[in-house]
Amino acid sequence: MDSSHAVLVTGSSRGIGRQIAIDLVKRGYIVYGTYNSSKENAQELTQTGIHMEKADVSKREDLARVREKIEGEGITVSGLVNNAGIMKLMNFENYDETAFMEMLKINLMGTIYSTLEFLPHLKRTRGSIVNIASNAGIGTAAEGTTFYAITKSSVIILTKRLAFELGKYGIRVNAVAPGWIETDMTVTGKSQEEVERIKASFRSKTSLGITGKPSDISPLVVFLLSEDSRYMTGQTIVIDGGRIDNLTHGV
Ligand code: NAP
Repeated sequence: MDSSHAVLVTGSSRGIGRQIAIDLVKRGYIVYGTYNSSKENAQELTQTGIHMEKADVSKREDLARVREKIEGEGITVSGLVNNAGIMKLMNFENYDETAFMEMLKINLMGTIYSTLEFLPHLKRTRGSIVNIASNAGIGTAAEGTTFYAITKSSVIILTKRLAFELGKYGIRVNAVAPGWIETDMTVTGKSQEEVERIKASFRSKTSLGITGKPSDISPLVVFLLSEDSRYMTGQTIVIDGGRIDNLTHGV
């Protein structure tokens, strides 16, 4: 990789994004990460060589500021990982507009804003975009994920459309759709007993009988950013232990 090129990972202060940023730095990439509320985690990651910038991805101006900072350091982003996301569980009948709009702003608009901001960089470098979607966006029977799934299916169609539109610039766009991964998103606020019950439930929904860790997702993201995947674009790759509660009915 060119020494003036970098990968930007949004939402890298915790969970899956953190693992991706750490793995990229270990492989010699220049890595910029963003955090929103987890300042201490961000400071700790700085020690590993990751450049951490504050940005709320639901605000385009925050991402513009990060872009200007990176440009000021003479760096061009050739890899963009749109990872920042939140999940608010609610069934359709418990529709909460504030919660849904918050998810849309972060999960979908955050992906759109960062891609818009870094598009000139990605054009110059014939870069690679990896969007972190979810198997929920393909359709699973997990309780309460209806509105979260809508935000993630939007990310999947955005991935396909961008691959189609940006291919002429040599930009590749792929998505990764994880199943249940043990992170703050899935365990925070729950007792150990509750977590064990949830994990057992998700284990029973997979062919392999296991749940996932951030390190199950990161290697694929690294591959999709690299030249090893130069012939791949527009794809959504599911990593979920072989879920058996899909709602796709053979589609
Ligand atoms: P997590 O542990 O809760 O971490 C979420 C990350 O997103 C944090 O670094 C957080 O930053 C950042 N973030 C949240 N809101 C933000 C905002 N407004 N602006 C900027 N950053 C923001 O979640 P995770 O499990 O690692 O999830 C990462 C991605 O994977 C998400 O897109 C999620 O939907 C997706 N995913 C997760 C699972 C799973 O089972 N865990 C499954 C499928 C897909 P701060 O802490 O600094 O605010």
